[in-house]
Parts: sequence; structure tokens; C-alpha cells
Amino acid sequence: MKLASRMGRLGTETAFEVLAAARALEAQGKEIIHLEIGEPDFDTPGNIIEAACRALRSGKTHYTPAAGVPELRQAIAKYIASTRGIDVSPDQVVVVPGGKPIMFYVIMALAEEGDEVIYPNPGFPIYESMINFVGAKPVPMPLREANGFSCDVHELASLVTERTKLIIINSPANPTGGVLSRDDLRAIAEIARERDIMVMADEIYSRILYEGEFASIASLPGMAERTIILEGFSKTYAMTGWRLGYGVMPLELAPHITRLMVNSNSCTAAFTQYAGVEALTGPQDASARMVEAFRERRDVIVEGLNRIPGIRCLKPKGAFYVFPNIEATGMGSKEMEQFLLHEAGVAALSGTSFGAYGEGFLRLSYANSVENINKALNRIDDSLAKLRRR
Ligand code: PLP
Repeated sequence: MKLASRMGRLGTETAFEVLAAARALEAQGKEIIHLEIGEPDFDTPGNIIEAACRALRSGKTHYTPAAGVPELRQAIAKYIASTRGIDVSPDQVVVVPGGKPIMFYVIMALAEEGDEVIYPNPGFPIYESMINFVGAKPVPMPLREANGFSCDVHELASLVTERTKLIIINSPANPTGGVLSRDDLRAIAEIARERDIMVMADEIYSRILYEGEFASIASLPGMAERTIILEGFSKTYAMTGWRLGYGVMPLELAPHITRLMVNSNSCTAAFTQYAGVEALTGPQDASARMVEAFRERRDVIVEGLNRIPGIRCLKPKGAFYVFPNIEATGMGSKEMEQFLLHEAGVAALSGTSFGAYGEGFLRLSYANSVENINKALNRIDDSLAKLRRR
């Protein structure tokens, strides 16, 4: 078969490959602790499940408008308006199956051959993959441990050219757990306004924040009209398998993103959309409890990693990942990923799964029990100690 050449430019998410390798080891009888996958280990709150069941029983089993049912678009508009302090009309909201399609559609709709797109590196791998896929040039914005994995705004300014079409930011961030400060956001906004650049703000972890209040670039003067907010239900409400997310964007862009929906999915599953209304308007306590559990696990994993010789780890401010520096172990990131999987029975991801600037680091997801996290820490410590004695 001769595939279209664009397929050669499409990347992937290696988390799923490591998961498959871990499952294969489990099938051989090995016990693996899973710290590779980016999804909450909690169940979706009961009130949301009930709302989906009610929707199914009351016949919400048909196509919906491509951009989403009016009830959900209204609930999202109200939620984003109140949490970001901006005016949002339901017409600016496009509901899609997960946060990822917003990335896919927005990059597809805005970037083309010859355009440059600045994106965080290390960062969510699909940004770079999609920029390449549409034939635009990916321009990495390095995120460094030395400044808490925030962004160096002077460096960002130096990356902007006449061809820069879009800047992608992600805060709180995957894979580093870093958070952009209000000053960083102000500086990025200034660049975007002055150079007439659109911004895609991936805010999917906005509610998984351990310090301070969430800040959105869309709240800054003149930014709502040039920002696409990517948000969703996967992380906040432990709904990864439901496939429900959305974009909030300038009115002018919404019909084009909707047309991409018409050409691909037709619409997001009807009953999940009604579950989404309940998620946003119903009780929020289950989600808040989940964040408190993540906070406890974060403290356990950060402290434990810092006790292991050769590893140092910053305390992330958000999301549910740690991004420890492993350079002093003398191992490369990919080598360490394989070593931990096969020797320690711990599935983690090489920092390079998130771009070239992830070399020297590892990503561990702490969406697992404190008991399993402690077990994983002991196994990592023991197998590295054994290696040093060899
Ligand atoms: N954005 C970031 C930064 C993520 O980490 C993820 C999922 O891991 C997504 C978007 C996609 O979320 P969804 O599962 O809703 O498509």
C-alpha cells in the first residue's frame, strides 16, 4: 500500500506504546505498576453517570447539532465566562469528542505550509505531530527545569517571525506540571497582540492546581478575540473514556471548527453531552476530593524521588505528573524508561516522548494509589542501587 506522504509527518503518543509493552509483560505474569498513563484513576462521579443514563432512557440517542446541544454550549459559556472573567456567547463554543480534536481542528484551520507554530517542548506530543501533519513548521519553545518549567518570555519573543501564525501554551502543563505565572501570561499576550498572532491555550488541567488561582491568557485585555481555549471533562471529572471536550474561540472561527466536525464526527455523542451539563452544573465535591488526593500523592512521589540517588524532582504546581531529572544516573531517558519497565516493573515515560527538550527527564503520572506509588519508588530505588553495585 502506498500511503499519502502526509502520513509520514504524523507522530503519535508513546504513552500508548509503553502501555502495550507493559500489558505484554503482565500477560507473561510480571507485575507492573502503571505510572505511564495520563488519566485519573478515579471513577466518574455518580451524578454524572446518572445524568448520562437518564439521557439515554429519555431518547437522547440521535444526532445533535454539530457544535453541540444548546444546553451544553450554554453551560460551557457560563462556566468559562465566570472562571475566566470574560464575556462568552454559546456561539463561541464548539463541543467535540475530547480535548484532542480541538488541537487537531484548530491547527488544521489556522496553520498551513510556510506558517510557523510555536509550541511548548517538552509538551503534549500531539502539538508537534499536528503542526507537522498540516505542513507547517514546528518551532519549539523550550521549557527548562531551571525556571520551574515556566516559559522564558525573552526566548519566546526571539522565536517569533513574520510567519508565526499560532502560539500554543499549556498551563498547568503536561508533562512537567509547570504553571505559567500571570507575568508570563501578560508577556505572551503582549507578543501575541503586537505581532498579530493567535494563541491556543490548552487549559485542560485548569482545575488540577495546587497553589493559587488559575489564570487564563484569555482574561487579559484584547486576548479573548485571539485565543482559543481548549478545555474538557477528561481530567477534571475523570471522564477520559467518555470523549467530551470543547473549544471556546472567537466567534469568527467557530463555524469553521464546526465544519471540521461536520466533516469528521458529525457530532459528539448525545448522551455524553447531557452528562457534561450535569458535570458543570451539579455538585463539584467529587472533583475537589480528587484534587486533594492528587496533592497528597504529589507530595509522596516528589519526596520519594528526591531521596533516590541520581534523581532530583521539582514540586509541580498542577496536573498529575512529575518530571524528574535523571541525568546524574548516567542513563539516557529512553534507556531509563526501558530499564524501569523491565528491571523494576515500573511503567514510566521517557522525557523525550514529549519532545527533544525532554532528554534527561522522565515523566511519571501519579494518578495511582499512595500504596502503589510507594511500591514503585522502592522498586526504582532498589533496581538503581543494584545497577550501581554491578
Ligand atoms: N491536552 C493535554 C495537555 C493533555 O495532557 C491531554 C490528555 O492527556 C489532552 C489535551 C487531551 O485530552 P482528551 O483526553 O480530553 O482528548
